[in-house]
Amino acid sequence: MDSHAEETCELCGRSPLATTVHHLTPREEGGSSLPTARLCRACHRQLHALFTNRDLVTAGLTTLEALRQNPQMAAYLKWIRKQPPGAEPKLRKSRHVRGKR
Ligand SMILES: [Zn+2]
Ligand SMILES: [Zn+2]
Repeated sequence: MDSHAEETCELCGRSPLATTVHHLTPREEGGSSLPTARLCRACHRQLHALFTNRDLVTAGLTTLEALRQNPQMAAYLKWIRKQPPGAEPKLRKSRHVRGKR
């Protein structure tokens, strides 16, 4: 477990928990010097389970606001906000992403 668990997730807003850095525009898509967000592990994993790096760019999901408004993420966020910060929910992986790995 991460010992540094005093942060707030910028997507679901839960705290305190450990966050990881998400490149809002994936580095593979030229986003290495563009804004990042601090996301909890659950949000980060869910995000990358739903979308490929390419999807994030082509669908314009490169801001926190756009991510919150995406129907799939909105449904997830509505649910995760009710979960305690320490929860490690099971992923609901989309077939779309799985096929590309
Ligand atoms: Zn989160
Ligand atoms: Zn990420």
